[in-house]
Amino acid sequence: MLKRVIPFAHHLIEQAVQPGDCVVDATCGNGHDTVMLSRATGDLGKVYAFDIQAEAIENTKKRLADESITNVELIHDSHDRIGYYIDQTENQQIGAAIFNLGYLPGSDKSVITKPNHTIDAIQQIIDRLKLGGLIVCVVYHGHPGGKEEKDALLEYVKQLDQKIFNCISYGFINQKNNPPFVIAIEKKSDRLN
Ligand code: SAM
Repeated sequence: MLKRVIPFAHHLIEQAVQPGDCVVDATCGNGHDTVMLSRATGDLGKVYAFDIQAEAIENTKKRLADESITNVELIHDSHDRIGYYIDQTENQQIGAAIFNLGYLPGSDKSVITKPNHTIDAIQQIIDRLKLGGLIVCVVYHGHPGGKEEKDALLEYVKQLDQKIFNCISYGFINQKNNPPFVIAIEKKSDRLN
């Protein structure tokens, strides 16, 4: 009954995304989340998929070709430069975004997501998030540098205004070895009052 973290993250995104939405994969890696986002938004929608590693972009490109997916723009750049690719206008509002934090499985473990870039990217997505929109982070934190990112991210999310955002964490508290967990940020209102 209790979903594991990735299925839970995907379930949340699938609930939030409307067909035709603009959506973001902030860390496309091997492309699993990109495929899920592509299916959720459909042919009328668009996925912006970021990664700083050429290997990740290539892996995702192959996966998308295998699945005959065409509604994805792959961006070989850091997610904190999202503002260069997505306007802050009404018709470019973001329906949902996913971050899968940590390192690319099966690759260079020293290339990891960094707290300042992650938080900067989340803030830029928040500035473009539509009402009812959702940001989901799957937080892997067992590797060197992971704890610092987890702590900074939790501190940032906890200070988001509760009148505008619903913020949750979800994870298994009886698992060994720093199990991953989910943080989700839902924009529930435009107004402070
Ligand atoms: N979502 C992926 C999947 O479905 O296979 C897994 C992502 S993996 C845990 C984390 C990824 O974040 C790595 O591919 C890494 O290169 C990427 N990354 C690290 N820092 C980044 C940054 N500043 N901007 C974009 N991607 C980054």
